[in-house]
This record gives sequence, C-alpha cells and structure tokens, in this order.
Amino acid sequence: MNAAIDWRTEASRISFRDKAFIGGRFVASAAGETFDNISPIDGRVLAKIAAGDAEDIDRAVKAARSAFEAGVWADQAPKARKRILVKLAELIQKHANELALLETLDMGKPILNARNGDMRAVAECVRWYGETIDKIYDEIAPTPKTALALITREPLGVVGAVVPWNFPLLMAAWKFAPALAAGNSVVLKPAEQSPLSALRVAELALEAGVPPGVFNVVPGFGESAGQALGRHMDVDALAFTGSTEVGKLFLKYSAESNMKIVGLECGGKTPNIVFADAPDLETAAQGAADGIFYNSGQVCDAASRLIVEDKIHDVFLAKVAALAKSYAPGDPLDEKTQMGSMVDATQTKRVLGFIEKGKAEGAALALGGRQVRQETGGFYIEPTIFDRVENRMTIAREEIFGPVLSTIVFKTPEEAVKLANDSKYGLEANLWTNDLTKAHRIARALRVGTVTINSRDGGGIEVPFGGYKQSGFGRDKSLHALDKYTQLKTTYISIG
Ligand code: NAD
Repeated sequence: MNAAIDWRTEASRISFRDKAFIGGRFVASAAGETFDNISPIDGRVLAKIAAGDAEDIDRAVKAARSAFEAGVWADQAPKARKRILVKLAELIQKHANELALLETLDMGKPILNARNGDMRAVAECVRWYGETIDKIYDEIAPTPKTALALITREPLGVVGAVVPWNFPLLMAAWKFAPALAAGNSVVLKPAEQSPLSALRVAELALEAGVPPGVFNVVPGFGESAGQALGRHMDVDALAFTGSTEVGKLFLKYSAESNMKIVGLECGGKTPNIVFADAPDLETAAQGAADGIFYNSGQVCDAASRLIVEDKIHDVFLAKVAALAKSYAPGDPLDEKTQMGSMVDATQTKRVLGFIEKGKAEGAALALGGRQVRQETGGFYIEPTIFDRVENRMTIAREEIFGPVLSTIVFKTPEEAVKLANDSKYGLEANLWTNDLTKAHRIARALRVGTVTINSRDGGGIEVPFGGYKQSGFGRDKSLHALDKYTQLKTTYISIG
C-alpha cells in the first residue's frame, strides 16, 4: 500500500517537535538545556530536544493537577471522552506515515514495521479504550435491605508514565490511552533515545479535543526527568515500562516519596519450546526467527531462548539459520528491509559484549555475531545464533535485547518446563506441539504472564499483557489495564 512512498524524500522534509509539551503548549526546558537526538540509521543529529528536569516535571504535574481539579476532562461524560479519544485514533491513522517515519528515524526500526505494525496498533489501542469507557458499569454490593452500597470506579488524578524506546509510541499508548479514558491527567516521559513521536501525538491529542494540561510530554533523561516523576509528591500513580533494574528504582522512589501506585512492565527472557511433534516445523522455525530478529531483538518478549527437543535439534536449527538470512540488516527507510539498526551505540556495544561473553563461556557461535554496515555511521548487528548453550550461561540468563538467539536442548517435557522456568523473568513463553493435553499441562506449569501455543501471536489489545516474577506486575492492554488507573470507592447509605 505504501509502494509509491519515497521515504528518504519524506524524511528530508519532516519537521521535529523539539520542546516539552506542557499545559497544551510547546515550551523550552526551564533551564534552557537540550540534548542531541541521534538517529541510529546513520549517526546523524536529528534535533536538539528540550532536556526536561525536576522543574519541568513539576510544571507538567502542576498543569496536569490543575486540569484534573478543574474537571475539564475527568468530569466530562464518558461518552464525551470517548468521542475525543476516537478522534485522536483517527488523527493517528491520518498521520501514520509521519509518525512511523519519526520512529524509524529515531530508533532505526524498518519503516514498514513502524507504519503497518506499530502505528496500526497505536491507533487501535487509543480507539479501543475510547470505545470502552462508556460501556463499563459500576457495582452495587449485596447488602441487607436497610442499606445501599455503591462501588464506584474513580480516576486517580495525575498519572506519570515512563516508557522505553523499542516501541516508542505503542508502549506510551498502552499507558496513556487507558489512563486518559478513565479520566486521569497524564505526564509522559518518553525514552531519551526516542522522544519524537510522543511529542507529535501530544499535539494531535490537543487537536482531537483533549483539554490543555490533561496530556503533557516531558522529554529528558531517566536519572533527571524520570526520577523526578517517580519521586513527585503530587503524582498518584506511575506506570513504567523498561528494564527490571530501573523498574526496581521506581518502587524505591514511591516508597521514599508519597507511596504512589506503581505498575511495572519489565524485562523478559522468553523460552520458545519446540517439540518434535510440532504441527509444522516450517511455521515453528519462522516463529523462532521472527521471535528473535523482529525489531533487531529489541523486544521485551523476544523469543531469546530456543528450547528445542534433542531429536529435531539439527534439522530445526538449520531451518532457523536459513530464515535468519532474510533478516540481514539493511536501510530502515527501504521498504524491503526486515531488520534495521540497533537503537544506539550504547545498546550495540552492550549486545556485542554479550556475544563475546557467550563465546568465552563456551557456547558455539553458529551464525553471525558481528557489527555490520559501519560505513553508514549507524549501528547494525547481524542475526546471531548460539548453539550448545547451557541455561546457566550469561547469554541464557540476562536479557540481551538484541538479535541473539541461545539454543538449548531438552529430552523430556519435564526438563523443558524446568529450563523454561529457571529464569528470574516470567513475561512470556512460546510452545509448539500437536499434543493438546501436553500443551495445556505445560501452559499451566509455566510461570509467565502469556503462553502462546503453535504461534508467536499473543493477541491484540483485547488480552492482558504483563509479567510474573521480575518481569513486573500489573497488566497493560485489555479491560484489566483500567485497574491500574482507577480506584474503587465504597459509598454506604443507610436506608433502613
Ligand atoms: P530502561 O529501563 O533503561 O529505560 C526505560 C525508561 O526509564 C526510559 O524512559 C528511561 O529514560 C527511564 N529511566 C532510565 N533510568 C532511570 C532512572 N534512574 N530513574 C528513572 N527513570 C529512568 O529501558 P530501555 O533500555 O529504554 O528499554 C528496554 C527495556 O524495556 C528492556 O528491559 C525491555 O524488556 C523492557 N520492555 C518491557 C516491556 C514490557 O511490556 N514488559 C515492553 C517493552 C520494553
């Protein structure tokens, strides 16, 4: 559908919002500081972005609080909030090419993934929560006849959201859409690597009719802007997506400030368990390759541990390695490219460090392992496969967040489950088998938030997503996400 678009020309024409969006206006940071927004495609500085700090966060929280107190959003009828959020979804669709381009330039994902994957999902998410909010009813408790007890769901007030760079707008939408639908005001801090799409969407939200101050975006670094939001005394809840390490800091920030509610969507080390009786080994191999190489492996539920039954190991690994060729890194602005760049130099160095560690600890490098396309000035790593990995090795334990697959063999279903659960993470597991009983038994035994069976597809906005163990708590997506952005009030009336 986008065959006619010359993305390089579009990229040369695009303009960037480079200021914070507070109280319905773009403003410079209070200190006048900026940071370089570097494109990982070629190392070019795209823009100098306002570097928000504690003072900017405070300004945004004040704007959010005063909009909440004034009731300009929270007190609108659910049906009215619905109309505005559906309009925002339409504007996101209308500007999908521009938003996709901003994300590709910002973090290097292939343009068609951004356009047809991310932006569709963002629009769907915003529309879904808009459509939902006038269909949710409150409760009346089963009391004696002499009383009437109403259980009503109320917005929290000011919600802070801190998000990562791998799906910049989608991870933000999973927070701001349900938070806004429920009537809260929002202060969003995008990742410093990828602030562009969030700044543009804040402007579109205003255009759709979200009142000034209800949706604010403050770009900046984690240690300054992120921490200030986490520690702010007037923020009621903090929704975080990012690494487990930083997620733990938000619990500390909450404990040391106002005990704000914290929701954490953190890291993962997804086991992809492939049995010899998988319905179709070709499909399973495609799932394994997509599962680790999509988005350069920078995916929280990337299928980074291939746990394969020993009797199909050789044939299956050969299939995955053959499919990996289609993921050779290419220009993210070329529609044919399936794998773009890493997000930045730091992440590239980190991933290469894990590859060296894998070799040093005795895993067998079966494919790739090198940085490529250095002549572009950008940051690219080949699809990489390790064989003969043991679950105790660093590459099987740590979240690499790059296109690096660790292959581990098993003999029995019990061993597969043991290997899968032997991780501090519990975000997702994938399972391939034709045996329905075995599939259900194993799905129950896996300590993860999502199990996919005979597919990598874990469902759309209608199902919850989130982790067990150190992958976090609370759920994004589905009606369950509204639990994070509302609280229950009991009103007990004596009528005796
Ligand atoms: P990160 O934890 O480094 O950063 C995430 C956000 O936290 C950024 O906005 C960053 O500025 C901020 N931050 C960093 N240090 C901070 C600090 N000291 N105080 C306050 N805020 C701080 O993560 P990342 O590298 O941007 O993203 C990759 C991580 O995100 C991976 O671990 C991945 O698994 C995780 N992730 C999880 C999900 C999920 O739904 N579970 C989805 C996507 C990504």
